[in-house]
Amino acid sequence: MNLAGQLYKLQQIDLELERKQQELNEVENQLGDNKALVAAVSKIAAQKEQLEDAKRNQKNSEWELEDLQEKVRQIDSKLYAGKTKDPKELVNLEKEVKGLKSQISMKEDTLLGLMSQVEEIEAEAKTTAEEAKRLKREWEQRQETLGPRKSEIETALAEVREDRNELAHQVDSQAFNIYERIRLTRGQAVVKVERGRCLGCHITVPTSQWQKAKAGDLIQCNNCNRILYLE
Ligand SMILES: [Zn+2]
Repeated sequence: MNLAGQLYKLQQIDLELERKQQELNEVENQLGDNKALVAAVSKIAAQKEQLEDAKRNQKNSEWELEDLQEKVRQIDSKLYAGKTKDPKELVNLEKEVKGLKSQISMKEDTLLGLMSQVEEIEAEAKTTAEEAKRLKREWEQRQETLGPRKSEIETALAEVREDRNELAHQVDSQAFNIYERIRLTRGQAVVKVERGRCLGCHITVPTSQWQKAKAGDLIQCNNCNRILYLE
């Protein structure tokens, strides 16, 4: 293999390295991406707290309601026992019962609201739990399939790197340095010449130039500086 051929081969290896590295990055991104699961788990915690608060409110409201009902019972039993004879006191007691009953009615409405709030949060929490379960399963499946895929790519990458090292040692060091320098600025350092044109910049290459390149000399395009390669 002549010098230009070696550099062209080196470039193919470098392109393969780039592709494999990109593939590895994508797999690693997918493997590490558990944002949705983390979000679902923290949502579960928040809803659990909400539910506890709502249940506490419900309990308090039930106790307050029981207290009011107990008060009404006590006054009722006083009234029915006929112990109170004083009409003024009777009127007052009846007024008190009336007031208590309207408080009870309001409390009952509040309690109903709190109960439906608890039910709502319970339903939401159930949905979130199912969602988290699904996300966890998906994540585990991803680990199962992508874990081995990652190892495969890493092994392949190591092999391609070895090929590159081997070839890099064979290539003339000055030519290798030129290749590396052009690669840094141009991305691809070696380009083919087709129908007399440099495929890097599409400018016509003088015949004498491409003939030398074909013979295997290190010839760079006058326009884009890339190394010219002819099979
Ligand atoms: Zn060119």
